[in-house]
Amino acid sequence: MSNWAIESFDLTKHYNKQIAVENLSLKVPKGSIFGLVGPDGAGKSTIIKMLSTILPPTSGNAKINGFELLKEKRKIRKNIGYMSEEFTLYQDLSVMENLKFFGDVFGVPPKIRDEKIIELLAFSRLGPFINRRAQYLSGGMKQKLALACTLIHEPQILFLDEPTRGVDLVSRREFWRIITDVNRKGVSIFLSTPYMEEAERCNEIAFLHKGKVLTINTPDNIKKNFGEGLFKIKVKPSSEAKKIIKRLPFIEDVEIFGDSVRVVLRDKGKISILSKALEGLNLKEISEAPLDLEAAFVFLIKNTETKAEENEPAKN
Ligand code: ADP
Repeated sequence: MSNWAIESFDLTKHYNKQIAVENLSLKVPKGSIFGLVGPDGAGKSTIIKMLSTILPPTSGNAKINGFELLKEKRKIRKNIGYMSEEFTLYQDLSVMENLKFFGDVFGVPPKIRDEKIIELLAFSRLGPFINRRAQYLSGGMKQKLALACTLIHEPQILFLDEPTRGVDLVSRREFWRIITDVNRKGVSIFLSTPYMEEAERCNEIAFLHKGKVLTINTPDNIKKNFGEGLFKIKVKPSSEAKKIIKRLPFIEDVEIFGDSVRVVLRDKGKISILSKALEGLNLKEISEAPLDLEAAFVFLIKNTETKAEENEPAKN
């Protein structure tokens, strides 16, 4: 038996000439929560669709629960649940009817199906609404019902494509409570999200940008790797400060985030020169900043783009 829920090997997808995903290689240990994190268009849905056998890759391969993606689709489908943003509930059917319907679609024997429904209703807290038609449920409740329908055949790996997009904050929290419960029961979870606070909840994340992985690590390690030498400067006007800071040779990077300017400065001895350079502006504070995932992501993208530019042949 494989220790990996998912392994992918140079998985690639082209849509005509456009490269949506390039050489994705990753390993997801069984029992973990793995997050694909990136902005719109990064390739998240394409990856989830390929790994859940919905979309054939252009090249590369993968193993899902030890089964080969290109050869053992049926076995894989029995082992996984897939929920997309557009998961289709039957709007005219009640909560209970939807659950029974999906149980039957997956060939779950009625007795086991009914036992499972009791369990799913309990932890999704949809019990009081079993007779309500799906179309009359709130957005958050629809998401929970879709998740429950995805779990009816007891999949060992759950693929969730941006499961909480568009749902309110309270429902998002509730949804995560369920995901964590499901994971505690041993189900591996592979999800995509554009939200950094969701990325924080994963055991490991892959930062994705334009179809390529920038890094794969635990959220803590990602932050640690960038932690040294990031400073936060409260100064106004920040755009003016950015221009001045950019000219300082010992600054590795400078970006404006909200109401502060963040710089990467590895040599702390240079702080006095930095504050002197900003003397003419309204400088309130320079402090070492704890790096959050969003900042790490932006810096990683910048590093990748700078490297790509350096490697480009000079144009004359
Ligand atoms: P994400 O889920 O991160 O928003 P997608 O996987 O949906 O990203 O898309 C990755 C890239 O592939 C985007 O540039 C998108 O425009 C393109 N793309 C996605 N689906 C198709 C398709 N069916 N045909 C052509 N291009 C597509």
